Amino acid sequence: MHLDGYGCAGTNAVSYGLACLEMEAVDSGLRSLVSVQGSLAMFAIHAYGSDEHKDEWLPGMATGAQIGCFGLTEPDFGSNPAGMRTVARRDGDDWVLNGTKLWITNGSIADVAVVWARTDDRIRGFVVPTETKGFSANEIHQKLSLRASVTSELVLEDVCLPGRAVLPGVAGLAGPLGCLNEARFGIIFGALGAARDSLAVATDYATTRKVFDKPLAAYQLDELRTSPEDDPRTNYQDDPRIDSQDDLISSLQARRARGWDASGRDLLPGHAIPAPHPAVPRTPIRSQATARRRRTTSISGAPDVSLIPNVSSLSNPG
Ligand SMILES: Cc1cc2nc3c(=O)[nH]c(=O)nc-3n(C[C@H](O)[C@H](O)[C@H](O)COP(=O)(O)OP(=O)(O)OC[C@H]3O[C@@H](n4cnc5c(N)ncnc54)[C@H](O)[C@@H]3O)c2cc1C
Repeated sequence: MHLDGYGCAGTNAVSYGLACLEMEAVDSGLRSLVSVQGSLAMFAIHAYGSDEHKDEWLPGMATGAQIGCFGLTEPDFGSNPAGMRTVARRDGDDWVLNGTKLWITNGSIADVAVVWARTDDRIRGFVVPTETKGFSANEIHQKLSLRASVTSELVLEDVCLPGRAVLPGVAGLAGPLGCLNEARFGIIFGALGAARDSLAVATDYATTRKVFDKPLAAYQLDELRTSPEDDPRTNYQDDPRIDSQDDLISSLQARRARGWDASGRDLLPGHAIPAPHPAVPRTPIRSQATARRRRTTSISGAPDVSLIPNVSSLSNPG
């Protein structure tokens, strides 16, 4: 949504961040889907792709009609992508890709994958239509978090691509790392959205849940005790540092947000642990705020999953 042209919204950074914040307040998986689509897959094509790549993919991806994924991480190389084993070798004018990517958001629903592979000329990015012979994606099931987003393994077995499939605008790790930096900004804001939601759910619970005939909030609550500067609602819009895509700020904000997520969960011991999850397909986004206002304390029927504080996974790149 922050990219220009090709039907993209061209928003400024703060608007993009606030949209990520609101999406992650609904579910971290929803923000993850959008970050990977816009800041990883579309950004890679927008920043490093040929005019042909941009014309072919960006308009459809901007509307969501086409979904993209970003294949960098491998089973043995996550934090250190420089060690990647996926390889692209020349075969005449074509490229042939072989390798495996793991933990790829949107992988098995994607129309196009931006895949990073080792070549004779450093690491390069490739635009891979997922219908290409030899490409397959296996969805990872039984996840304990980010369950509202799709996470997959990508397998590339002699995937033959035309010479023009390579992203011409970048070589080396600067390519994928540039995309990760682009995504980091939305992730910082997203973490604050998850924290805000946790705080709202916990506060709501504390003021309506009666324990020993009084609302929980009438007692001193260790679970929510924290310093004012840790409050995720504190002036994030006015903080000049928030414009910087600095790792330190990212990690600081994420740490604060995770603290609030954990505090919120502490306050809802029983309600925070059921397996059912407010996944987007089961609980339309529109109805979540309404659902959250409902109070269900029964443990015999289906739990009101809307009471479960948002669980933010801050380690994934999208
Ligand atoms: C839900 C989800 C979605 C994801 N989506 C994508 C995607 O769309 N595309 C994609 O390419 N990847 C994706 N990833 C992968 C993600 O980028 C990796 O999980 C991440 O890079 C970490 O790699 P790893 O899991 O191999 O952990 P490891 O590299 O094994 O690291 C394990 C731990 O060690 C720490 N660590 C690593 N190096 C050091 C060091 N030098 N000093 C101290 N500590 C260190 C790490 O911070 C981490 O806590 C996703 C992951 C998740 C969980």
